[in-house]
Amino acid sequence: MTHRILILGGTMEARQLAGTLAARADCSVTLSLAGRTENPIAQNVPTRVGGFGGAGGLAAYLNDMRIDLLIDATHPYAAHISANAAQAARMAGAPIFALLRPGWDPVEGDRWSEVDTVGDAVQALSARPRRVFLALGRQEVAAFEATPQHHYLIRSVDPVQPKLAVPDADYLLSRGPFREDDERTLLENHRIDVVVSKNSGGAATYGKIAAARALGIDVIMVRRPVLPDVPSAETVDALAAMVDHFVEPAAERGV
Ligand code: NAP
Repeated sequence: MTHRILILGGTMEARQLAGTLAARADCSVTLSLAGRTENPIAQNVPTRVGGFGGAGGLAAYLNDMRIDLLIDATHPYAAHISANAAQAARMAGAPIFALLRPGWDPVEGDRWSEVDTVGDAVQALSARPRRVFLALGRQEVAAFEATPQHHYLIRSVDPVQPKLAVPDADYLLSRGPFREDDERTLLENHRIDVVVSKNSGGAATYGKIAAARALGIDVIMVRRPVLPDVPSAETVDALAAMVDHFVEPAAERGV
């Protein structure tokens, strides 16, 4: 029997999981991307691109494509699609697993202020002009037009269009992973004194946090959104093991 699996992706882990599961002869895997990135990294599994049209649209897709298992491997800050996924799975009666990498915890030497939203991060910047590194998605940086007195360094995978209506901003196009040494050089060269970041977790984007700590730079950390409570794993291997149990129940494995 072939198990039809839909993976909601947009993360490195989703790509890795799709590769792992696609190698199984008893699984047929489709990876779903939102279509935000202009040139996404090539996938070696069948991929569909674009929204489903809300939870109802996703539930209809699960039914139409006879999906046996939905895996939400989206970014921890992609809260809408995760809520839709949990709701769609309920509507379609399909099981759902989530792959959710753990967040970072502050350690000795970190100078974090934690806030709930990007809007709160804007408010958390002082009135006096600062040199701010925005390590956020290009959709989120527009909120900083409300505080145009700061210098901004904005890094994104695709160009920020339109550019921010602020007098002093530098733009950098780059795709992670980012090494701590390179992040330190970047912060020093741009004389950054505060970093605004999401608590994405994982090693690929931790370099700027470690570099900020080493340089004694403030970090405004946007807390994670609340996500639906579904069976989950923190790593690709752990999620793949959950799929093993789903595909081959204990009796079939001779346990
Ligand atoms: P979001 O706000 O949670 O979702 C907005 C809408 O985009 C969803 O309602 C859905 O549209 C569509 N969508 C999102 N992910 C999708 C997927 N994997 N496949 C098909 N449709 C999807 O999402 P977001 O924060 O904009 O993130 C978009 C994508 O970028 C996600 O795949 C996420 O994993 C990735 N990403 C996000 C961040 C971040 O910080 N938010 C960082 C890195 C990567 P419909 O309602 O029409 O189905």
